[in-house]
Amino acid sequence: MSLLVVGSVAFDSVKTPFGEVEEVLGGSATYFSTAASYFTDVSLVAVVGDDFPEAHLTFLKERGINIDGLERSAGRTFRWKGEYSYQLNEAKTLETELNVFETFHPNLPESYRDAPVVFLANIDPVLQLDVLRQVKSPRLVACDTMNFWIEGKLGELIKTLASVDILLINDGEARELANEVNLVKAARKIMSFGPKILVVKQGEYGALMFNEETMFSAPAFPLESVFDPTGAGDSFAGGFMGYLAKCGEMDDAAIRQAVIYGSTMASFNVEAFSLDRMRSLREEEITTRYQAFKALTTFENV
Ligand code: AMP
Repeated sequence: MSLLVVGSVAFDSVKTPFGEVEEVLGGSATYFSTAASYFTDVSLVAVVGDDFPEAHLTFLKERGINIDGLERSAGRTFRWKGEYSYQLNEAKTLETELNVFETFHPNLPESYRDAPVVFLANIDPVLQLDVLRQVKSPRLVACDTMNFWIEGKLGELIKTLASVDILLINDGEARELANEVNLVKAARKIMSFGPKILVVKQGEYGALMFNEETMFSAPAFPLESVFDPTGAGDSFAGGFMGYLAKCGEMDDAAIRQAVIYGSTMASFNVEAFSLDRMRSLREEEITTRYQAFKALTTFENV
């Protein structure tokens, strides 16, 4: 099944203990669609300014991503500036410039409106709902968000969540959204807002999936070289949703496998700045790391 995503396409400036980059390609929808493009057809909805280079569009097109819904407006592209300490789990946002996103009113191309699977990547929850309302009858809707929107647009976010099947969010944001320190209690409270499935991303500690009956825990892949965690959450979501859209199943077994594909894509993304690791990523590498994940977590009774 094909996958529709709305989210940010951005210029990121990022500093980690291992280096620094200025105005490189980033954005929640960029990371998501690139990761998901290894699994299924992806259509992108977003806006960029007149400062956005053709080379970035070529990169997305070469990954097979449909960019008919990527609008170009007069003005500056969305910009995000962040910093990480040695504790790489949480980004400190230094600046967020919404720019062309402030006045963006998406009008979905006709060919996008039948999308069976929709991902509302991190962006203004009003925009997320606006896009969702233009899709005729999606079979599966998932969503991401961050503290910027939890703090700035909580009412609107809760409204979006009422129409969502799966929420993917990091642990700090889950606690903040639920106003609850205990993660299990926070998960139950968030699920009462709408999502039947919650995936809590915990950076180098992995991911926890909650549904009505069970929980599933997956580690992050232990890596020797981690350069930049930016986009890990979005690449996770891209692998997770891309796999679900590809296999067409939504049962517990499929969701568990999707968590491992999500972790696999996130593990590649953090190996380099911006989308540089995904530029060279080959499908066989994904399969090999997926198998390595299995070996990492399998044990037997003796
Ligand atoms: P993550 O996967 O959580 O590391 O997301 C990183 C990406 O989110 C960066 O490439 C940013 O451009 C983008 N981003 C940061 N803040 C926001 C925001 N408030 N709305 C939408 N996208 C954002």
